[in-house]
Amino acid sequence: MPGDAQKTFYLETFGCQMNVHDSEKVIGTLLHEGYRRVEAVEQADLILYNTCSIRDKAEQKVFHRLADFKKLQAQGKKFGVLGCVAQQEGEKIFERAPHVSLVCGSASYRNLPQMLAQIEASGAAATQNLDAPKPEARNLIRITGLDDRETDKCFEIEFTARSNPHRGYITIIEGCDKFCAYCVVPFTRGKERSRTSDSVLAEARQMADLGYTEIQLLGQNVNSYRDPAGKPTSRKSFAQLLAAVGEIPGIKRVRFTTSHPRDFGRDIVEAIDAVPTLCDHVHLPVQSGSDRVLHAMQRLYTREQYLERISWIKSAKRDISITTDVIVGFPGETEADFAETLSLLDQVDYDGVFSFKYSPRPNTPALRFEDPIPDAEKARRLEVLMAKQKDSQMSSYKKYIGSTLEVMVEGRNEARSQWVGRTSQNKTLNFSAPEEASPKMGTYVPVRVIGSFPNSLLGELVV
Ligand code: SF4
Repeated sequence: MPGDAQKTFYLETFGCQMNVHDSEKVIGTLLHEGYRRVEAVEQADLILYNTCSIRDKAEQKVFHRLADFKKLQAQGKKFGVLGCVAQQEGEKIFERAPHVSLVCGSASYRNLPQMLAQIEASGAAATQNLDAPKPEARNLIRITGLDDRETDKCFEIEFTARSNPHRGYITIIEGCDKFCAYCVVPFTRGKERSRTSDSVLAEARQMADLGYTEIQLLGQNVNSYRDPAGKPTSRKSFAQLLAAVGEIPGIKRVRFTTSHPRDFGRDIVEAIDAVPTLCDHVHLPVQSGSDRVLHAMQRLYTREQYLERISWIKSAKRDISITTDVIVGFPGETEADFAETLSLLDQVDYDGVFSFKYSPRPNTPALRFEDPIPDAEKARRLEVLMAKQKDSQMSSYKKYIGSTLEVMVEGRNEARSQWVGRTSQNKTLNFSAPEEASPKMGTYVPVRVIGSFPNSLLGELVV
């Protein structure tokens, strides 16, 4: 790295909350190694991308970035690819982007300090060869961290630079053993391995001591959590762990994502009913309403079994909001299958639906399936589904008008002179407040709902 000025790094994150939290660990490690974070690529000595490969569009983003900033290598800057595309593509990334020096999957972040030291050691060498015509000739160092995705050492990252001082993430389980036919996660994140409940609770208590009031437990399949701790008698189920985190003094809200319907038990609903700090929101991806498509997707549950879980949630004492994920255009999905997905939306009346067009992914079984749906038809189905959900949310959100909801103050929208709050049900509630009663970030305040939109509520602070 040029001169002995403080080393700088730029990190851009793509994808899910697990990637966001992984980036917090990478940032924490780099800061501990003496780096300073910069917001502009051009100012950085080390340029990093934490990548997502859940859909092709997400994967291509990193290669576009690398192509856009390739010219910066001539100034001796180093490039690194982290996360799911790194794990999926491995050394192939060096061929596609010869100016990349580091390719590191999420299970290897604990080895980042050594890898960074190797890159720094190579710094001078690279500087000498900068005039070499071919990019690959200029770049003398290539390091990979693609080792076992079996290790549970992936949780032992000492330094985490959390981006929000009020609410924080805790990864409790890594990887996935479900192998849904369309999904890359088992190949990029490896098999399921859970953290001990003691280490999760220790981190949660530490966060509470630091003033965090909201904790979100993370996992590709957070409810597939299996406590690996010592004696079976001292092991905690996911619902017990959830409740235990919720009972930590100072913690006001606990969320969890993402759940798999097959491992979703009544005990989770009972825990939400019993522990007030557990948020009344469940994200339960269904992906399709058709048994034929669910079977082809290898989702391991039927429409009926899924609706049984929904009935448990709807029969809770608390009013628990439900959101889901849906894929349209999976190979072989007929118009009738799609109609079953639409009828499921009617039957469940979701508070939110994240919907996507099927995207063929490397290594996944669905890649070999016949009868691909034309992209125009996928787009049409997506549009129909989103319009339907928007109408349903438009009417369901109206039921909150006149009620008073507690929000955590998350931000300020100056353009609209509004505060941005989030309810326990994970709804955005934008509200006004008199100047003299301006709330503080991270505090919890009562807000009267005076209006609603498809994806948010409007309110005024109760003073
Ligand atoms: S459950 Fe299925 S969709 Fe979810 S991460 Fe695992 S393989 Fe992917």
